[in-house]
Amino acid sequence: MVTTWPKNFPGLGTGAEFLANQITTMSGGRLTVKVYGANEMVPAFEVFDAVSSGTAQMGHGAAYYWKGKAPEAQFFGAVPFGMNAAEMNAWLYHGGGLSLWEEVYRPFGLKPMPAGQTGVQMGGWFNKEINSVDDIKGLVMRIPGLAGDVLSRAGGTPQVLPGAELFTALQTGTIDATEWVGPYNDLAFGLYQAAQFYYYPGWHEPTACLEAIVNQAAFDALPNDLQQIVETSAMAANQHMLSEYMANNQKALETLQKEHQTQIKSFPEDVLATFKGHAEAVMAELGQSSELAGRIHQSYFDFASKTQQWLNISEMAYLQAR
Ligand code: CA
Repeated sequence: MVTTWPKNFPGLGTGAEFLANQITTMSGGRLTVKVYGANEMVPAFEVFDAVSSGTAQMGHGAAYYWKGKAPEAQFFGAVPFGMNAAEMNAWLYHGGGLSLWEEVYRPFGLKPMPAGQTGVQMGGWFNKEINSVDDIKGLVMRIPGLAGDVLSRAGGTPQVLPGAELFTALQTGTIDATEWVGPYNDLAFGLYQAAQFYYYPGWHEPTACLEAIVNQAAFDALPNDLQQIVETSAMAANQHMLSEYMANNQKALETLQKEHQTQIKSFPEDVLATFKGHAEAVMAELGQSSELAGRIHQSYFDFASKTQQWLNISEMAYLQAR
């Protein structure tokens, strides 16, 4: 399994290890999975090609990294102002989402599976305060995928860098700001040493849905029980990672505030409203980019509008009441 993460990086890399260990143990060693961190076998952003070509049989990463291969993949990584982890899982497993994802990857000989959720991320680390939309203009920020397009429309300059390069880029001023994940991961990278202001909410990633990808020919060659072990292990990894983030983000947030004096700030309402307007336009354009993209867009947003109605009177009402 080649991965887009540093080996054993908290949450993302350990999630890949968890998945590999589940498969190896549940199969009684009939199917062993060895994990390679980014750059150990292939660079982070060559994972998709490596599994597609059969150089590796399996990969662990995030779908939005592959927008250059298949723009439709972006619906399955993170959608700005889109669905959270619980909604995303509901759509994928019970709302037709996973079938659409399989359709996107089929031409590449790849089988995708959700294999980890981060939950709502943080908005990122900034070297200056964001007080109005004007502060976004000219801002060079590491922010991948669709959210990068949103930032661009708001006047910023998005950059895509692998996680391991963020600290140096931020500290040397190559970038003015970066998002990564949330307190748990951002503390591990030491980003608090390179920027003072830590903004919320992560409008750009209401969850990152991480993926396991399997070479379809390698998957088809497995007997039924091993295929089921791979799929069930991915489902277990999907839930395991979400729980790991929930448990560790709160601890890391406390450390950032109490030990490192990180300033936690919310984006101004007009900045969020501006991003949201651009996000709707970006998603609409993506939906018009192909026949398949149109079907995914309709499925995703139909589902999201219905879960919003339900969440208003369930999770949201409850969180406000307790
Ligand atoms: Ca992120």
